[in-house]
Amino acid sequence: MRRKLVVGNWKMHGDLKSNQTLLESITNGLQNLKNADYVVCVPNPYLFQARELLTNTNVAWGGQNVNQHEQGAFTGAVAPHMLSDLGCQFVLLGHSERRVLFHETNLTAAARFDASIKAGLTPVLCVGETLAEHEAGLTEVIVASQMDAVMATLSDEDFAAAMQVNMVFAYEPVWAVGTGKTASPEQAQTVHEFIRNRIARRNSDAAAHVRIIYGGSIKANNAKQLFAMPDVDGGLVGGASLDADEFIEICRLAN
Ligand code: PEP
Repeated sequence: MRRKLVVGNWKMHGDLKSNQTLLESITNGLQNLKNADYVVCVPNPYLFQARELLTNTNVAWGGQNVNQHEQGAFTGAVAPHMLSDLGCQFVLLGHSERRVLFHETNLTAAARFDASIKAGLTPVLCVGETLAEHEAGLTEVIVASQMDAVMATLSDEDFAAAMQVNMVFAYEPVWAVGTGKTASPEQAQTVHEFIRNRIARRNSDAAAHVRIIYGGSIKANNAKQLFAMPDVDGGLVGGASLDADEFIEICRLAN
């Protein structure tokens, strides 16, 4: 039985004061929920604050992206060990906003995935098709190419390390991210099952254990049906993670 996971993605929102209010409300609201895992991925400047307010709570924290290099002349970049230093357990990779707005590719996602697991971080690899790809019936082709680009770079030893850190996949149809449109539970289930089968081609035992979460306009009023699907192991929540009551309710539904 896979434990459900809810990851909040704050994107580029927040300041010290509002973060404190939000994190305190979230930790209060989640303190008695013991049957699922909860994470917030905050902007890098606030990782210190997340560490301060979330240490010894049941809410973990993570980065929204990371660079594949360990150190060097990479102005503006953050290395995996820097996230680990600040107590991050998780890191989002290949988010559609990174792919579309910052031209990141399957190859950068693969290099970052590899660097993250080597630093002991749990990567949450985001995959998903655009609206045009969806309408052209290319969902599985696109998701397969995004997954295979990462899987192909992992040696057996790396794959074992990825299992050790409990790698996560997030199916995020781009047409549903931040748009208010959500994949139906059945649509999400079909793609999640496809992702699980793809992992099983590499290792069937791993496939049974890997958590595959859904992202794309999850709200308190649609989470229950999505989380009820057999291959939907939780959610990646953007907009609704900035509203304490909504986020807590989504987490409660995962619990
Ligand atoms: C996201 O940022 O990954 C996301 C799913 O955003 P939203 O929930 O706002 O669609």
